[in-house]
Amino acid sequence: MRVLVTGGAGFIGSHMCDRLLKEDHEVVVVDNLVTGRIENIAHLSGRSDFHFIKHDVSNFIFIPGDVDCVLHLASPASPNPTSPYGYPQLPIQTLKVGALGTHNALGVARAFNARFLLASTSEVYGDPQEHPQREQYRGFVDPIGPRSVYDEAKRFAEAITMAYMRYHDLDTRIARIFNTFGPRMRLDDGRVIPNFIVQALDRKPLTVYGDGLQTRSFCYIDDMVEALYRLLKSDFNEPINLGNPKEMTILSLANLINEMTDNPAGIEVLPERRDSEDPQRREPDITRAKEKLDWEPKTSLEDGLMKTIENFKTRMQ
Ligand code: NAD
Ligand code: UDP
Repeated sequence: MRVLVTGGAGFIGSHMCDRLLKEDHEVVVVDNLVTGRIENIAHLSGRSDFHFIKHDVSNFIFIPGDVDCVLHLASPASPNPTSPYGYPQLPIQTLKVGALGTHNALGVARAFNARFLLASTSEVYGDPQEHPQREQYRGFVDPIGPRSVYDEAKRFAEAITMAYMRYHDLDTRIARIFNTFGPRMRLDDGRVIPNFIVQALDRKPLTVYGDGLQTRSFCYIDDMVEALYRLLKSDFNEPINLGNPKEMTILSLANLINEMTDNPAGIEVLPERRDSEDPQRREPDITRAKEKLDWEPKTSLEDGLMKTIENFKTRMQ
């Protein structure tokens, strides 16, 4: 297959490129590098089966040659307002790429009658009132809050993807991705694992927002790549949760990272992020992924963190 990967210079996108090339597919990346890094795909340059086009997908996308499959991953993804790469700092770009970018990516898929996969998010559930979250849950999202630029853009992206499936007979997939981490994340991404690892390796206290009792569950990148690849090959059109169901508090994550890095600096408690509507609990119900994709995460949090810490160490030297 010849696969278009929008956002292919980003964290998840670059790992997907590696997997697709390993499976002998040809890859075309379109990325404007707003949050991604050219270093993530530098090792692929010069290959005849890999092509990079620097372009903002919120504008019309032109792809020379055929496309069999579109993986639409382009979007800022960090909620941290203190990071230059957080979507609160890129509100209009985030809305545009979720809406116009998804429309354009669907347009490419339709023009080539290609399969289309949307990277959606657990954020479509907002600050969930149901726990764990099943795909049938419709969410609890503030349409005008600081996270709305991301949440509502992704909800629109899901709606237009379903519309293209229903009205244009496009072969579509929707992955609702939960917190995923691993090598190649930006050091200054702002999401919790990169923040904590950089702080720990700098021997600084880890910044826990609020009492740290809010929960998340963290999926290692290799498991996510496997899930996305299986979804791409499946024939399942409804949204599907992809993530690790092992829920933990942010405080226990901070303690674990301090322990694994021998960081003596401990924890610094900062005011809770009410300003960013921090969801209090999040955990995917992955029954559907188990049934439809025969998939569940295999990497332990400790193993995934160890590999990520090693990657960050080499990049921080
Ligand atoms: P990332 O920031 O590393 O990657 C996103 C990529 O999209 C970057 O390379 C960026 O430059 C590119 N991009 C953004 N806007 C663009 C535009 N207008 N035109 C072209 N390229 C553009 O983030 P990531 O964690 O790899 O996320 C990838 C996708 O997965 C995103 O759609 C995100 O919403 C989704 N997702 C990720 C997670 C996670 O935990 N990592 C969780 C839920 C959803
Ligand atoms: N968080 C934290 N300290 C940080 C960064 C994040 O305590 O330096 C918390 C944040 O408040 C949230 C959780 O970690 O409760 C996960 O945040 P992240 O930015 O990774 O993404 P989210 O899951 O909120 O989309």
